[in-house]
Amino acid sequence: MVERRVSRGINAGNRGHGSKWLRPSTRVRIYERDGYRCVWCVRMVVEGRRRGADTSVRLASVDHVLPRCFGGSNEHRNLITSCVECNSRRGDRSVLSFAADLALDSLELEGATIETITKRIFVATRTPLPPRTRDAA
Ligand SMILES: [Zn+2]
Repeated sequence: MVERRVSRGINAGNRGHGSKWLRPSTRVRIYERDGYRCVWCVRMVVEGRRRGADTSVRLASVDHVLPRCFGGSNEHRNLITSCVECNSRRGDRSVLSFAADLALDSLELEGATIETITKRIFVATRTPLPPRTRDAA
């Protein structure tokens, strides 16, 4: 399996914030891979422009498993679907730190443990992205 690795130097000016650092088609494939659920809190998410009036679902974002500021890459294996709320609440904290925080939040996330949360991240980041479909057009 040939893998193309992008050296960190090339993206040194890219801080990973905003929406321009990831091509839109890859972003969608990450959402598809994760079933349009926040990997942290398992709530359904939608892209902003598709949300419409439905506020029962959360807005989707892509979160770095290992934060950029700790050297995390923009490769899909370091990226997970996160609702905007979880992404913002996590900030640059480690997976374990935020998973512990969520697991303590038992009223909101019944049954969530550090183990189940980190396992979801493990599974998501090791699942291949779905094939490109809309890129070709
Ligand atoms: Zn969430």
